[in-house]
Amino acid sequence: FDDFDVKNEPVLGYRAGSSERAELQSELERTAAVTEEVPIVIGDQNIKEGEPQYQVMPHDHGRKLAKYYYAGEKTIQKAIQVSVEAQRRWDRTPLEERVRVWHRAADLMAGEHRQRLNAATMLGQSKTAVQAEIDSAAELIDFIRFNVFFLKENAKYQPISEEPAVTRNSLRFRGLDGFIAAISPFNFTAIGGNLAYTPALMGNGVLWKPSDTALLSNWRIFNIMREAGVPAGVVNFVPADGPTFGRTITSSPFLAGVNFTGSVPTFNWLWNEVGKNLSRYRNYPRLIGECGGKNYHFVHPSADVQTVVTSTIRSAFEYCGQKCSACSRMYIPRSLYEPIKQGLLEERSKLKIGDPTDFKVFTGAVIDDKAFTRITTYIKNAKNNPKNKILGGGEFDGSKGYFVQPTIIETADPHDKLMIEEIFGPVLTIYVYGDKDLSKALDLVGTSTKFALTGAVYASDRKFLDTALEELKMTAGNFYINDKSTGSVVGQQPFGGGRMSGTNDKAGGPNYVMRWTTPQSIKETF
Ligand code: GLU
Repeated sequence: FDDFDVKNEPVLGYRAGSSERAELQSELERTAAVTEEVPIVIGDQNIKEGEPQYQVMPHDHGRKLAKYYYAGEKTIQKAIQVSVEAQRRWDRTPLEERVRVWHRAADLMAGEHRQRLNAATMLGQSKTAVQAEIDSAAELIDFIRFNVFFLKENAKYQPISEEPAVTRNSLRFRGLDGFIAAISPFNFTAIGGNLAYTPALMGNGVLWKPSDTALLSNWRIFNIMREAGVPAGVVNFVPADGPTFGRTITSSPFLAGVNFTGSVPTFNWLWNEVGKNLSRYRNYPRLIGECGGKNYHFVHPSADVQTVVTSTIRSAFEYCGQKCSACSRMYIPRSLYEPIKQGLLEERSKLKIGDPTDFKVFTGAVIDDKAFTRITTYIKNAKNNPKNKILGGGEFDGSKGYFVQPTIIETADPHDKLMIEEIFGPVLTIYVYGDKDLSKALDLVGTSTKFALTGAVYASDRKFLDTALEELKMTAGNFYINDKSTGSVVGQQPFGGGRMSGTNDKAGGPNYVMRWTTPQSIKETF
């Protein structure tokens, strides 16, 4: 391997008059002007079957962005066969060659395809330019480059050979014997790329089932990877109805792994199906899941009010609270409640919600009608519960786009649904604790929900921070001190949580690539 310095891709600013803004605007126009037709791709075959499906623009749901198809059971089975065959050839491709392909892909994403990807993410997933840029540009490129870097770092370790003239020990990375199913979410385009292409980098064959609501951006990634040199059949693009896809992959003897980001019920269902089918498989399938959170901001009486306000607004309401890491519950001591409340309400009232392609807009619409109904049901229930008080927001309108105003609720009950269930929308709930009840409040953080994805504490008191680091140790896979719970950066804060938030295999960290290899130890005697 040639050594290379790995660095995070710089985030572009999109200032008025900048060339990136002009380029993005023309890509937005081009992308919005047509309903792009997206096939299922298996090997080198494009397939269109069954009733067409449509991806719409969440901020204007009458407009169709993409037309696509669901692979039926037979087609999914065909994809399994093709990926298993392709894997055997691909796994023999020298690592250096695969690495070259990945570098080429990262360069294409950073250069000529950057704004095409951002445009698809903005229109299809309702992200603003800034949110698209940190996702479908910077983070995606980082995943591609850092996984190569981590692979190379891990490959540096070679087992000890005590008498090298007589015996030599080595370790080689093999892809898994079968296929990997990558099932990816809508909320980060980069996650789709990571779930499908990290197993591929390590020599696996993949069936990629993209999210229906991230279809176009994911399709564009697929095409860039092909252009960079990923051979046909190594990754197959298989949009499908969830249960049909899940049943077909889990009943195949060739299932070698599932790379999943999505909800707890879906991951639990997949896990159960794998358990039921265990005797059929050649391998123990690797099950990797990132499943959501109920992330907290915990404020200590020694915290800086302005820091708390600014970062909570960003964490709870950027991208409509649809990051797995978004803050949705907050614990504030009575002594700081008034200034923090006033600050949050003031900042909240300045947020502009609307068309995400408008550069003045802070956030777009929530992803689809299901999300709109789920989130607004929580809000309606909160309005009818005397223990809860809507402090700001609470309005919604789904007639043209799925718009929900950022909502701040105060609750008297730290075990209220709003404090323990994942809403996945722009709803922040606050519980005010008595300053004397600090340790009880800390206890609530870890005991009231089953999730443990991200969390943040705000304090200047070092003794308290040491206590929090111990007391809250198991409550978050990503823990922040005096910063918001969102915005992990590849290679800087590897991402993932424990408990019911997932298997914590840390996307963007050194171990992730190793989940997708079945290494072989070789002892050679001369
Ligand atoms: N890594 C992202 C962040 O920290 C969240 C990823 C997700 O939503 O799954 O903001």
